[in-house]
Amino acid sequence: MADVVVVGGGVGGMAAALRLRAAGHDVVLYERNAVVGGKLAGRSVDGFAFDTGPSLLTLPEVFDDLLAVAGTSLAKLADPVRLDPICRYRWPDGSSFDHRADRYDAATEVDRLAPGQGPAFAAYLDHGRRVWEVSRRTFFAGPMESPVDLVRRMRSPADLWAIDPLRTLDARARAHFSDPRMVQWAGRYATYSGSSPYAAPGTLACIPWIEQSSGAWYLRGGLAGLAELLGGVLAGAGVEVRTGVEVGSIRADSTSVRGVRLAGGEMVAADVVVANVDATHLYADLLPDRRALRRVLRAPVSSSGFALLAAVEGRTEGLAHHNIAFSGDEAGEFAAIFDHGQAPDDPTLYVCASVVTDPTQAPEGCENWNVLVNVPPASAVDWDAEAEPYRDHLLEVLAGHGWDLAGRLRSVETVTPADIAQRYRSWQGAIYGTSSNGRRAAFLRPANRGPRRGLYLVGGSSHPGGGLPLVVMSGAIVAAMVQADQHRGVSTTS
Ligand SMILES: Cc1cc2nc3c(=O)[nH]c(=O)nc-3n(C[C@H](O)[C@H](O)[C@H](O)COP(=O)(O)OP(=O)(O)OC[C@H]3O[C@@H](n4cnc5c(N)ncnc54)[C@H](O)[C@@H]3O)c2cc1C
Repeated sequence: MADVVVVGGGVGGMAAALRLRAAGHDVVLYERNAVVGGKLAGRSVDGFAFDTGPSLLTLPEVFDDLLAVAGTSLAKLADPVRLDPICRYRWPDGSSFDHRADRYDAATEVDRLAPGQGPAFAAYLDHGRRVWEVSRRTFFAGPMESPVDLVRRMRSPADLWAIDPLRTLDARARAHFSDPRMVQWAGRYATYSGSSPYAAPGTLACIPWIEQSSGAWYLRGGLAGLAELLGGVLAGAGVEVRTGVEVGSIRADSTSVRGVRLAGGEMVAADVVVANVDATHLYADLLPDRRALRRVLRAPVSSSGFALLAAVEGRTEGLAHHNIAFSGDEAGEFAAIFDHGQAPDDPTLYVCASVVTDPTQAPEGCENWNVLVNVPPASAVDWDAEAEPYRDHLLEVLAGHGWDLAGRLRSVETVTPADIAQRYRSWQGAIYGTSSNGRRAAFLRPANRGPRRGLYLVGGSSHPGGGLPLVVMSGAIVAAMVQADQHRGVSTTS
């Protein structure tokens, strides 16, 4: 019998497993895919390598904090590179700015783009720093089973105002910037949690500060390699990692979990089950619970993504590692995604070409273009029919931004929301689980404690949300919760 079964080998599941193992538990982790990592994954095509999930690592200290429990660190394990520029932004009118790694250089760049906006940029970063300082010791510091948890961790009412939950990110940006391009730049960070700047809270203004202060990182060889490295750390620490094994159901009586049944029929007894699967999969399939499922479905689902993995011949002048080519119609883009359930005609394009930093990622003289656009959840569009026309449309949009790849393409593959849903069992192909759209979103997100004693939720669809550092934080929150509950001899239901 295992003390702890972890269902799913995404980054959140691995983080929880490692911490619980370090705390002395016998831990078994089951992952249905052939490899661990979940959305942290990659693909190689004839010498071209693509990170099909995360391509940008932020808050590396969160990983170091996790890896320290196994006596290692990101720098010992991998070869992290701090990127400069963080990202090259461009607009349809031909203007652009480099978000430089140094904040003063970045402000100078902003002033070059839009004279007078450099000080506004600096003030926006300072504002983001205050938001982050407070939200780190309140929202991110522990479980969030109700707003009371948040209030309890606040030192004074000023903390509530500091995290700016009432106005939208767009309104926050407008209060700082007079140049519409900088408003669009600031609003873009809503998509880091699969959200719209017109609905997500101003709290997300902390993200540019996080990028600026602790850096935008790449791991040489590709971010996807981190999945295998983490799997090795887990195995070295004594976690039993079983890949290619699907969990068919979670066994429980009316009060407590008893273990899991594998899809092959084998029963595995356990006192604690940590579900790293999407919360909808948990409550619809693994431990059917209509009430819990209804609650999960009330939380706004994050946007999904449509990607082109393009093997490109030749080198492109002015291409950075991370590039954003903004839509000419920001409001129309977010309305298409979040209001009309349509793939936007004029999307903002994110182009990641890691070969700019790491020549191993493409054959000599070539480029690995990973083009990602935000699209609505999977069921909104018939991707079987639309993938090819939308691919061709995006190639035209790229050409409109001066990136005409015609004649340079060796191959191009697509990744649709339906693919993301199927590969990771992510509800609707959501990239980040639930979004931050709306003032109540943070409280609608499924809590880390499940409705039976011994059941816990970790990863992007539970608190504190999606994105690599956040799911690692969620692993720490869950591990601490299990320890505290076992110490008290209880695990109450929600
Ligand atoms: C295209 C894309 C781009 C992204 N870009 C970034 C980025 O640049 N930076 C960033 O920080 N984040 C990014 N993210 C988000 C980030 O990848 C996720 O938030 C994070 O990896 C999710 O981790 P998780 O712990 O929720 O697990 P998941 O990755 O969701 O993994 C869950 C695992 O559970 C397994 N599973 C499901 N059901 C079962 C079952 N019944 N039995 C056994 N196993 C099961 C699945 O196979 C999967 O491996 C991106 C995601 C995508 C898709």
